[in-house]
Amino acid sequence: MTIKRETGWNLDNSYARLPNLFFSNLNPTPVQLPKLIILNDHVAASLGLNAHDLQSEDSVAVLAGNLILDDSSPLAQAYAGHQFGHFNMLGDGRAILLGEHITPDGNRVDIQLKGSGNTPYSRGGDGRAALGPMLREYIISEAMYALRIPTTRSLAVVTTGESIFRETELPGAILTRVAASHLRVGTFQYAARFTSKQELQALADYTIKRHYPDVAADENQYLSLLHEVIKTQASLIAKWQLVGFIHGVMNTDNMTISGETIDYGPCAFMDVYDPATVFSSIDIQGRYSYGNQPGIGGWNLSRFAETLLPLLHDNQDEAIKLAEDALSDYNELFMNHWLVGMRAKLGLFNEEQEDETLIQDLLNLMKKYRADYTNTFRALTFGTFENAPLFESEEFTKWNEMWQARLSRQSESEMTVRELMKNNNPAVIPRNHRVEAALEAAVERDDYSVMEQLLNMMSKPYSHTPEQAKYCTPPPPSTQAYQTYCGT
Ligand code: AMP
Ligand code: MG
Repeated sequence: MTIKRETGWNLDNSYARLPNLFFSNLNPTPVQLPKLIILNDHVAASLGLNAHDLQSEDSVAVLAGNLILDDSSPLAQAYAGHQFGHFNMLGDGRAILLGEHITPDGNRVDIQLKGSGNTPYSRGGDGRAALGPMLREYIISEAMYALRIPTTRSLAVVTTGESIFRETELPGAILTRVAASHLRVGTFQYAARFTSKQELQALADYTIKRHYPDVAADENQYLSLLHEVIKTQASLIAKWQLVGFIHGVMNTDNMTISGETIDYGPCAFMDVYDPATVFSSIDIQGRYSYGNQPGIGGWNLSRFAETLLPLLHDNQDEAIKLAEDALSDYNELFMNHWLVGMRAKLGLFNEEQEDETLIQDLLNLMKKYRADYTNTFRALTFGTFENAPLFESEEFTKWNEMWQARLSRQSESEMTVRELMKNNNPAVIPRNHRVEAALEAAVERDDYSVMEQLLNMMSKPYSHTPEQAKYCTPPPPSTQAYQTYCGT
């Protein structure tokens, strides 16, 4: 197909070579009138794709699922998962994996269309997605990438020319998602529950080859796989905590094996520091609140470990012991990553025993005085303690003295300290009111300039430019808490 040669698509389908219980071969459902809304030039370039040729009519038809590249073997993946603690059979209900694109430098990434029509796993859903939520995923995933947090990326959004129905009639859209893979904890749960040990092992071998090839030579490679996933998730969730990101729906099917953040549904960034913060309209109990995220990470990893038991040891008791041992590392791994990150946010180069107390004291004050999480660290970075009850409090003055004393016990210059802090405290995060304004302009008025500007401001969150200043303002006080929604 000529469009393949022009654009640079180079698809393989290793997932389709797994035992066929793991997927259903299926093409996307064609849509009426595909229109390219946004294309990510940076992602295109990183994939070795030609951004200009990706805009041709045929290329857009590929991104809409209307045209299938001849080396693509489209499929919907089977998986299960614990949703809010309850086990369910799930699977790609509205997504199709076109295949794995092999980049010019040999990287293998999944190319998935989200919102591409019904599949055998749709469970009564319409298989479709609305424009607003797909643009939202585009914005937040790009912001996460710029914040240096492992994440799936967004190559493009196309509208379908078809309406979908939620509470109201909405324009339909399809997002092209790029991921290291879509292997989830839930994929292993599916294998452990519904397939044989042989198939589970095929999945584990596939995963090792794709994501952790170095462990293949280990004596117990499946135990090493478990260790690696624990390590990567401890690191990922620490990064979320450090920027105030709330995933919102940390079900086990939304936790990747690769360690990338996935599934930007009800996620949002915290403004006022409060560990109890929840944005998701359905998270009544606060299971996935900001403060609960590290613990839920551990809970999800326990579900992952359970799936590997048959591969860890022939004797079940021994297998459980190995899994428990591995899981017991998680809290410390998480805390270490978090402490390293927090020290950097406070400009600390070396370690002292009391650092954790210093950090916790600050967080307690931030909570007490309802301080904005991002802006407090920005103020500390630049020494601008203005206009906030926190900074006017005597407790903060005392804390600041402790911090200054702590800083003076290291040899780095003030300038070096500030550089470290600038590099670890973002000037801009995708604030909820800014994201909403960008989506409203795009969806209601077909005006993409607000979104473009937001993406632009967020593309270098650690550069602290004067233009970014107006994007730092927290939302105006509101009587209603910000709410986000799942699966829209
Ligand atoms: P999520 O909450 O996005 O992680 O989705 C949970 C499950 O619901 C996954 O199996 C999705 O594929 C499925 N799902 C979400 N929205 C739809 C939809 N509109 N149609 C069919 N399946 C959906
Ligand atoms: Mg999901």
